[in-house]
Amino acid sequence: MPDPTNTIVNVTYPQAGIAMITMDAPESAANILDEQLFSELDRSMAELAEQSDLTGVILISAKPTIFVAGADLKRIAATLDWPEKKIVEFCQRGRAVMARFSRCPFVSIAAIHGACVGGGLELPMWCDLRIASNDRRTILGLPEVKLGLVPGWAGTARLPRITNLDIAVDLVTSGRLVSASEANSIGLIDAVVPQESLIEEAIKMIHRVSTSESFIFDRKKIMGPVETVGDLEAIVLKHGKRIIENKKIFPFAPTVALEHMTRSASLPIKAAWNSESVAMAQVYGSPASRGLINHFFLIDHNKKQPGLVDMNLSPMKIHTVGVVGAGLMGQAIAENCLKRGLDVILLDANTQTQQLVTNQLKCDYPDRSIQSCESYESFTECELVIESVVETAAVKLQVLQKIESAVDEATVIASNTSAIPIETLANHLQRPENFCGIHFCHPELMSLVEVVCGPQSSEQTIATAVKFVKSLRKTPVAINDGAGFVVNRLLAAMIDQSLRIFTNGTSIETIDFAMREFGFPGGPFEIIDVIGVDTCLYAGRTMWESGSQCVTLSPILPRLVKSGFLGRKKGKGFYAYPDARGERQWDNNLLSVIEIYRNEKDQSSTLNEKQIVTQILSAIVLEATRIIEEEIVQDFRDIDLCIIEGFGFPAHHGGILFWADQVGIETVLQTLESISKVDPRISPNATIQLQAKNQTHFYPAPTPSEQ
Ligand code: NAD
Repeated sequence: MPDPTNTIVNVTYPQAGIAMITMDAPESAANILDEQLFSELDRSMAELAEQSDLTGVILISAKPTIFVAGADLKRIAATLDWPEKKIVEFCQRGRAVMARFSRCPFVSIAAIHGACVGGGLELPMWCDLRIASNDRRTILGLPEVKLGLVPGWAGTARLPRITNLDIAVDLVTSGRLVSASEANSIGLIDAVVPQESLIEEAIKMIHRVSTSESFIFDRKKIMGPVETVGDLEAIVLKHGKRIIENKKIFPFAPTVALEHMTRSASLPIKAAWNSESVAMAQVYGSPASRGLINHFFLIDHNKKQPGLVDMNLSPMKIHTVGVVGAGLMGQAIAENCLKRGLDVILLDANTQTQQLVTNQLKCDYPDRSIQSCESYESFTECELVIESVVETAAVKLQVLQKIESAVDEATVIASNTSAIPIETLANHLQRPENFCGIHFCHPELMSLVEVVCGPQSSEQTIATAVKFVKSLRKTPVAINDGAGFVVNRLLAAMIDQSLRIFTNGTSIETIDFAMREFGFPGGPFEIIDVIGVDTCLYAGRTMWESGSQCVTLSPILPRLVKSGFLGRKKGKGFYAYPDARGERQWDNNLLSVIEIYRNEKDQSSTLNEKQIVTQILSAIVLEATRIIEEEIVQDFRDIDLCIIEGFGFPAHHGGILFWADQVGIETVLQTLESISKVDPRISPNATIQLQAKNQTHFYPAPTPSEQ
């Protein structure tokens, strides 16, 4: 007998002839489709089917914000090596349980409130009817492709038969979520009602449909081919184009889904199920899916524990943020704050810049409060002031001291420095406990924000900074202090290797192309241009001065800065940008400026794409392991999150340490040994050597109970 205190499913009878299955996973915020839920649904529906006096069954969740959140991802992650036969059985088992809702001798209806996604939506799709609350938290969709998977419990087969092929292909291959009202308008659900009348309306619908017996006709109809196929060729072209153009979703799983759904649309549904199992077996355990699932777990882990911060503290509430420096970063920080409803006070030494930026922000956010100020005294009302002036310690110190003498004793002061250790700045402040780093990697393009704990930063300051970053809907990672923190050390390792490879004869375009092909949104030289050649130079110099091994003093960046090649912001850097936001162009003038630094005799040693990627990534792995050895991060997974969310490392590779596990640490070791013959800084450290010797991984293998 199951333990009643530990069951998920509870069956009640809100009215004679109406059963209600309520899902409520104990001690969990969400219901997920794990083996326990499947078994309990199976048993409950088998028992209900035996009752002769039932008119209908309602499937509902007791959770306040979630109907069913999807499949048990931990189990999927632990079974990625399954052979095809097991994957097919996994799909069949899920369908067999869910099919009870479409075969029962009475009407079945799902009453949906909260997130109803992935397998959590496939389950209601097996019911005769679906009704959803009009609450904004009710969202529906099949986001499996975002994890490199396809729906495997008949979602791809039932959805086109419930709606039509075009809509179904759109939802499955984009993974997008829809509101209850959109779900209603596309025919995915049958009605939208207030949450409090879900059960009452569900009962009415059961009686109506039971009397008309329309559900029997609908059940028969759904077993055949898709009725509304439309122009198949046009559907393939339209969605194929979208899949290729969408840079946010790795195209493998959507392409497999598109091919399977269009191929099986004209077949009876049972053949479509078989085709779906084959599609699932194609993507299950694929390299991209492994990486994307790891990325999902990195984000999940970060939500619970965003690094070195005490989540039990109550942070200060922020209403008004002061920003000093209205350059590229200061403007973006101010804009992020305004977007999320915070008031902003802006100051810049250059009054023209300050006025221009303020006017622009006022124009873009007319309903928000943005003030341009003339003196530091205006910051008295701020709970947080962020310094974002030029990357020079002396200038930053002056600014920070002025802020400190103007603000309230409790105000948190933060620096957006890219690389200067927080301790260096804190040592000259009166209240170093109120000071920390809040390093926006790139507020426009990246979600990561490093919250840097100086040795004297108080836990309360860090908790407030983390909460502030979360309120901007960014991804905070609280880390320990050290020049370059995490992201810029990894970035510096990439830039350093790229410059070395270029100096030895491989072209800038080839290096950038190789890294883009690997999945980066831009190559290393394009990234330098986006950040600013000068900013990269100064941040690199700070790291070098602090003894960091990841940078050498290459003459290339100083030469470019001296010649005015500062990157995208000035229209020229490693590439030319005739239009500030437009495409990059190759600039022959550039090569004449830096050609002298190329090693003539090594021109023949150009690398192929694979070698370029392996060399650059191995150097980043080395830097990542140094960061772990220095205990800059609380958890090694924070490094993988930082590199994906901080500078665009492709999520489908799962992070730099995840990549190292996939290619094998032996490959990394050999690559580093070969580079270190000419550059001893890049010698493999103890972590890498030991791991290669013991054949261990960064990520532990799943335990047998998870498989
Ligand atoms: P920027 O050159 O675009 O802007 C700096 C601004 O600071 C200028 O408007 C300047 O007038 C102002 N300023 C200089 N001295 C000042 C002073 N004493 N008082 C007030 N204002 C002063 O530089 P940026 O790219 O915005 O970088 C700002 C900071 O953010 C730097 O520390 C940089 O390392 C960091 N950062 C930059 C990036 C990036 O991608 N560019 C990313 C993360 C962090």
